[in-house]
Amino acid sequence: MNKHQLDFDIVICGGGMVGATLTALLATDRHLKSLRIALIEAQILSPPTDEVDVRVSAISRASERILSHCGAWSLIQPSRRCAYQDMMVWDGESIAPDLNNTQLALHFSAASMAEPNLGYIIANNCVQWAALERCNQLGVTRFATALSSVKFEETHALIQLNDGRSITASLVVGADGTKSVSRDCADIKAHVKSYEQSALVIHVRTEHPHQHTAWQRFLSAGPIAFLPLNDGRSSIVWTTTPDHAAQLLKLDDVALAVAIGHASDYVLGDIEIAGVRAAFPLQFAHVDEYCRPRFVLVGDAAHSIHPLAGQGVNLGMMDAASLVQVLSDAHQAGASADALSELHVLRRFERWRKSENTVALGMVDTLNRLFSNDNMTVGMVRRTGLRAVENVPMLKRFFTQHALGIAGDAPRMVKAV
Ligand SMILES: Cc1cc2nc3c(=O)[nH]c(=O)nc-3n(C[C@H](O)[C@H](O)[C@H](O)COP(=O)(O)OP(=O)(O)OC[C@H]3O[C@@H](n4cnc5c(N)ncnc54)[C@H](O)[C@@H]3O)c2cc1C
Repeated sequence: MNKHQLDFDIVICGGGMVGATLTALLATDRHLKSLRIALIEAQILSPPTDEVDVRVSAISRASERILSHCGAWSLIQPSRRCAYQDMMVWDGESIAPDLNNTQLALHFSAASMAEPNLGYIIANNCVQWAALERCNQLGVTRFATALSSVKFEETHALIQLNDGRSITASLVVGADGTKSVSRDCADIKAHVKSYEQSALVIHVRTEHPHQHTAWQRFLSAGPIAFLPLNDGRSSIVWTTTPDHAAQLLKLDDVALAVAIGHASDYVLGDIEIAGVRAAFPLQFAHVDEYCRPRFVLVGDAAHSIHPLAGQGVNLGMMDAASLVQVLSDAHQAGASADALSELHVLRRFERWRKSENTVALGMVDTLNRLFSNDNMTVGMVRRTGLRAVENVPMLKRFFTQHALGIAGDAPRMVKAV
């Protein structure tokens, strides 16, 4: 097929937070915006309502910059993003800390880094909605249906949609999440390992104010975190065994509130349930190959990570920004739209992001093993480790910069402010 007969230069499969942001970045990049770009998203998203959706994420400074770069950040109403200035982490066997008593806890503060905050807690549907709105503003072609298959031919990719239509593209980006159909079509395998843990999520009201602080207590079955919301509530992410999570889902509100209070050592006082509940099985996953000719993977389609460090979508945002930088540089250096789908171009992205993601996945995996463990020796190592990080400024700076997403080999749009 002649390249001029192709329907699109780049088709993104999956308009979740990562795929929608990637699409908006491509459509704003000065070297790529003239390309024909389309986005396929299976779900019809309703506009966010005043009630904060049950799924929220800690959005890092790096992701804030990426969303700002493509014009999506300003489409998230300020009242829907809750900046947090501090993060308090402590061990299940230590007493609950407060902001004035951080002994035996690990305390990260924005002030100590001369930063305005450590990030924002935002409902996933608000981030996704803003990025999709931005795609609409930029005139991106959207297909509101599922991709059912892709065939990779020498001259093009042939995409079959669930509604019976088929389209052709030079390059397909798989941003369709952990159960990626596009990844299967490219015959790329992911190494998957269940954590044998589930995360219970629910919003609660607390007796004491959250003080714009993320609180996280590590218990032997997994951490319980309180993420601050703008309306004064906190969003709980409680990682525990799948059986325990299933039991918690069945408790009445009063019993669940007591269970959360007990698990958090009442760090914010008594609890009142103030939202719907859901639980998600947790898994580690990473692909060996991020690309094939005419195909590349980003976000959860390439990797999924334990939520204890709030990194999943932030890594995906970095994938999106890095891919745009690689494609933009190649196009500016003379590569045609079709040549952007060649393996030697896509491999630059793979080398870059695979090494960064491998480090992040490995670090979080180790933290989970160290903390979700009731072995006494491991407990001692853990408490010594917490104190070491708390008392060594360089170590603390290292971890804070990672949490902000500004450490490592970051793309230009994250560094340039
Ligand atoms: C309990 C919990 C807490 C978390 N907290 C955080 C946090 O605080 N910070 C953080 O950074 N990360 C967090 N994460 C991780 C984060 O939620 C994910 O990393 C993020 O949602 C991945 O985004 P994505 O766009 O890559 O994939 P997804 O969100 O899975 O989006 C994929 C999109 O593709 C679409 N799609 C799928 N198949 C098709 C198809 N065949 N055709 C068309 N469209 C398709 C789907 O409808 C969806 O919109 C958390 C995860 C969990 C489980």
